Amino acid sequence: MRIGLISMGLCIALLMGCGSAENAVNLFTLQDDIALGEQVRSEIESDSSGMELLDSTAYSKIYGYLYSIRDSLLNSGQVHYKTEFPWRIRIIKDDSTLNAFCAPGGFIYIYTGILKYLEAEDQLAGVLGHEMGHADLRHSTRQLTKMYGVQTLIGLIAGDRELVRQVTSSLIGLSFSRTHEKEADECSVRYLCPTHYNSDAGALFFEKISKEGGVSPPEILSTHPDPGNRVEAYRTHKQTYGCIGELNQAERYQKMIQTLP
Ligand SMILES: [Zn+2]
Repeated sequence: MRIGLISMGLCIALLMGCGSAENAVNLFTLQDDIALGEQVRSEIESDSSGMELLDSTAYSKIYGYLYSIRDSLLNSGQVHYKTEFPWRIRIIKDDSTLNAFCAPGGFIYIYTGILKYLEAEDQLAGVLGHEMGHADLRHSTRQLTKMYGVQTLIGLIAGDRELVRQVTSSLIGLSFSRTHEKEADECSVRYLCPTHYNSDAGALFFEKISKEGGVSPPEILSTHPDPGNRVEAYRTHKQTYGCIGELNQAERYQKMIQTLP
């Protein structure tokens, strides 16, 4: 947003000295994450993006459903920025894309393709948890800090349209590191753990997609040649955290998916 904000972010990051080396420096502040996400949102939702969004009023039933699942994850006590980020959801009408992603600051996008591909509510909760994890751990801005210099970042935050476009396409494409993917998988289990859902349901998506194959890898499969390892990691996290939920809510899910165009 402003240079002051960015240098403040740098100071805080240096003072706090975050966990893994990859996460060591984030030049952005939380407000910068939200401002950047807001710009990505307006890019995606502009006529020139070529993406068609489902109207949240016309499709209020399925939006209400997605928001209720989102809320149960937000109420897990595991989301750092539960109240700071908007956690806004929009559905992209595109049946051929098995994907979901979350822009910095908690702007969640999910394609009708993946909604129709998944089989039950717990799987959707698992996918949402993974995407929300990327935003909550601020993976995008950590990665941007690593990829670009400070000048570029200042340009980005100031609304450089071409740069925003680049960030948007890297968000939709295959851009997160292996470490970030693993962290987002762990978030998924942690967010689902206190709910009634089967907390490793995110892994069912990997199992289904590796069994059936034939589709280009969506964001949540990116940079991981071996979905099998990730399935195992999901199961291990579930055990480690002692999660006991088992519900999949398949019937309710199927009914809701039928309301999609
Ligand atoms: Zn991911």
